[in-house]
Amino acid sequence: MTSPGVLIIGAGQAAAVAARALRELGFRGGITMVGRERHKPYERPPLSKAVLVAAQEPCLDVLAQEVWALGDIDLLRGSDAVGLDVSKRQVRLAAGQMLAYDTCLLATGGEANTLTSAPAGHPHVHYVRTLDDARRLRAALHGKPQVAILGGGFLGLEIAHAAMSIGAAVTVLERATSLLDRFLPPEASTWLESGLREAGVRLLLGTFLGGIYSMPGGRMRLVTDAGDLEVDEVVVAVGLSPNDSLARDAGLAIAAGGGVLVDAQCRTSDERVFACGDCTSQQRPGQTAPARLESWQNANDQARIAAAAMLGVPIPAPAVPWFWTDQGKHNIQMLGLPAPGLDYLRRGDPASGKALWIGHRGGVPLHGVALNAGADLRAIRPLFEKGLPVPLDDFPLNATNLRAWARQMQAGAAATV
Ligand SMILES: Cc1cc2nc3c(=O)[nH]c(=O)nc-3n(C[C@H](O)[C@H](O)[C@H](O)COP(=O)(O)OP(=O)(O)OC[C@H]3O[C@@H](n4cnc5c(N)ncnc54)[C@H](O)[C@@H]3O)c2cc1C
Repeated sequence: MTSPGVLIIGAGQAAAVAARALRELGFRGGITMVGRERHKPYERPPLSKAVLVAAQEPCLDVLAQEVWALGDIDLLRGSDAVGLDVSKRQVRLAAGQMLAYDTCLLATGGEANTLTSAPAGHPHVHYVRTLDDARRLRAALHGKPQVAILGGGFLGLEIAHAAMSIGAAVTVLERATSLLDRFLPPEASTWLESGLREAGVRLLLGTFLGGIYSMPGGRMRLVTDAGDLEVDEVVVAVGLSPNDSLARDAGLAIAAGGGVLVDAQCRTSDERVFACGDCTSQQRPGQTAPARLESWQNANDQARIAAAAMLGVPIPAPAVPWFWTDQGKHNIQMLGLPAPGLDYLRRGDPASGKALWIGHRGGVPLHGVALNAGADLRAIRPLFEKGLPVPLDDFPLNATNLRAWARQMQAGAAATV
């Protein structure tokens, strides 16, 4: 009897990268991937960017056609896994089929948080997590409607820029009094806010939503503590909840804040089950608590780590967290993680369109933010990887100088250890 091999639940970014990594690492057994959506794994970042505005939808495939053909990966699309039995090593599909595994990888991603007063499926309410969601929003936006976006996070603001660029009238409602203040230094947050206002976005900060009501004729009324608002379309972008119910129901450990609890090698509390991507909360070395990192890079990194751990081969070192967002024509990248009380130093000037902030504690760089300066951030990545204190007061701006400076700092830091 042939052994069942690896069963991957979920068919998104992390699932696809893990399947490819398994083959690249020489795994010859069976790989079965079960995905709820009708699409092959696709890239989600363009859903709030190019997919909404480009004349032609960009190619979104995570894996090239030949990887599917040569990789011999069995993809069950439109299939929902509804039960995981870790003692029998089986997964039950909604259609009743049972799938056996030697090793199971949970790559189930997350679901957009919903508001009761804005039900998914309402003809003028939009959540943007899937390609079908984005295509539906795109069709609505091209009618140049009045749009209310609930949530001024990265996703909501990307959609605001996209909607404005194709002629919609956009209002963003956000409870916090400043934008993205958990992720950006105050100067960057202020710059982002001015840019949105200049682009014509109506920003209602510090605003609480009381309710959303359907009006005759299809319009929507939003009742807020800043007054009522009538619009054609409502977009809700208020965060993500990890899809951890399969693991939870199977009795696997779940992190306090949600997410399948995994160690640095993507192992769950069951030795035959691994997990990666947005569905996880990972305990990394040196961290006080497990953390959820909902990003494209994290999905890719964890997928490669999980594949290596499943096969028992050397594990790639976890990368310093990295995230990017495109806000209109501006690119913002972040390296490391923000934390309360960091001191930020800046080079460049956001008003000039290019700036780099380094957030540090006692000279140890912990959080870098680059505005249209991704190459500069890459140049100082080694300092983040080393995690050693360096004299940051004289860091230069521009990738060439920064690279030389970072090398000098590394050598200096190494010499003093
Ligand atoms: C609109 C949008 C824009 C983004 N932009 C950026 C960006 O600019 N920068 C960045 O770094 N990151 C961005 N991200 C985040 C990034 O795309 C995600 O972190 C990444 O897709 C996570 O990959 P994943 O495989 O863990 O989850 P997903 O890609 O969500 O894949 C999970 C898949 O599993 C399926 N599934 C779930 N449960 C089951 C089940 N029980 N049975 C079968 N299938 C199941 C789901 O339907 C889904 O298809 C964006 C995300 C979105 C939605």
